[in-house]
Amino acid sequence: MSSLDAQPAVEPSFNEGLSMTVDRALRHLDLPPGLAAQIKACDSVLQLHFPVWLDDGVYHIFRGWRATHSSHLLPAKGGIRYAVCVDQDEVEALAALMTYKCALVDVPFGGSKGGVRIEPGEHSERELEAITRRFARELVVRGYLSPGGNVPAPDMGTGAREMGWIADVYRTLHPEEINALACVTGKPVTSGGIPGRIEATGRGAQFAVRELFRRPEDMALAGLEGDLAGKRIVVQGLGNVGFHLARYLSEEDGARIVGVMTREGVVLDDRGIAVAELRDHLDRHGGVAGYPGGRTDVDADAFLATPCDLLIPAAIEGQIHRGNAASVQAKLVLEAANGPVTFGGDEILRQRGIPVLPDLYVNAGGVTVSYFEWIKNLSHIRFGRLDRRLDEGRGERIVRALEQMTGRSTDAALRAELMTGADELALVRSGLDDTMRQAYDEISETFHGNDAIDDYRTAAFVVALRKIANTYLDLGV
Ligand code: NAD
Repeated sequence: MSSLDAQPAVEPSFNEGLSMTVDRALRHLDLPPGLAAQIKACDSVLQLHFPVWLDDGVYHIFRGWRATHSSHLLPAKGGIRYAVCVDQDEVEALAALMTYKCALVDVPFGGSKGGVRIEPGEHSERELEAITRRFARELVVRGYLSPGGNVPAPDMGTGAREMGWIADVYRTLHPEEINALACVTGKPVTSGGIPGRIEATGRGAQFAVRELFRRPEDMALAGLEGDLAGKRIVVQGLGNVGFHLARYLSEEDGARIVGVMTREGVVLDDRGIAVAELRDHLDRHGGVAGYPGGRTDVDADAFLATPCDLLIPAAIEGQIHRGNAASVQAKLVLEAANGPVTFGGDEILRQRGIPVLPDLYVNAGGVTVSYFEWIKNLSHIRFGRLDRRLDEGRGERIVRALEQMTGRSTDAALRAELMTGADELALVRSGLDDTMRQAYDEISETFHGNDAIDDYRTAAFVVALRKIANTYLDLGV
């Protein structure tokens, strides 16, 4: 479908829209009959009702889901979301997206996703712990949570704390399982987690933006020039993903964050917003009131129409749609959230020549570093433990040899760099950077190498689908 006239009259659901996006990409591949349908189908969905005593003594029934979209590679991987918007369509769409995301960035996992329909802000820590532990126990006993079968991670509304509780539930139910900690990723670093996981999604998205800015042909496509310094950026969502991304882009790359929207309100400031300060203000005061440029009278449509170089939806799905895509005034849209641009919105942006770097690429940093954490848990050793000091010794000898040959002492910064062996965080960052660059290369090659493909999203899906199809064919799954 390439014309606005051919769009369905009603905006499809998240899952239907994703399915139509996949169909569009499948037209560029020649798969054996039936394989496309198998790749697209959701393997299974577990729907649960489970009871938890709340603090006021009331026995409350919660509703949760875990979808396994694909198990052609195991474990199936994907986050657990706590939000009131969680439903089966959303969980299935997010699980499918995980399948394509993992394939795109060469993470050898299937795709899964889970969620519980709650507003986490309305529950005490004790209640959240009870809800999480009960949900985890249900998942374990029904075969939806194990190191080799299905491995959750954080998503909206959950974080390291919840992942720690989940790991503890699994360990308690499987005390002899030596790889128990690999049943979930995004755990606290002190309990089997890995440095760099919390910020991984934002960091990965930063690497994606940096890669785009290294490519003159892609910059030209978006009408962008120069480097990231001073570029006007508008971000929706200042949670795990949006906060780290906005912070890194402004503090490390010199970009100007001119607009931020969260559930609490909007901050608009052309001089640039101090992201960490704003986050701190939101945490302390629970809203934007009192923060310079803070407003509660701007709705999402008006906010998303703020003129900027990069528009970064990093909150929830369905934000840029048929009803507001025509008023977007950005040179490029970077999908840091999952599914923030609907199928209809995507068509309009494409027609308007506004490129979209898609979610399955942009936010793949989270699952990439989760993969590193899972490997660490299975190998029972931190990365760099065997070779760090060896590298430092080698660096020291290089510095000494350089100084002997030149008769001059080495520059202090270079000396320090050569004589510092990579620690685990440095290795994680390096692996993440490599992953994001490699995936960009593959998307770019498919996009620019095929005249029939006119957007990054289709190119990314073609790359992912080709890899998934090859796995099915190679393994005879
Ligand atoms: P989070 O819960 O940490 O933060 C969500 C942010 O979005 C908050 O600032 C919240 O105020 C804001 N928000 C929520 N609803 C909003 C609305 N209607 N309008 C404006 N702002 C709103 O969530 P997160 O972990 O940062 O996830 C954000 C998105 O990124 C989700 O789509 C998630 O699936 C995706 N994602 C997250 C990860 C991860 O590692 N956490 C990885 C990949 C993708």
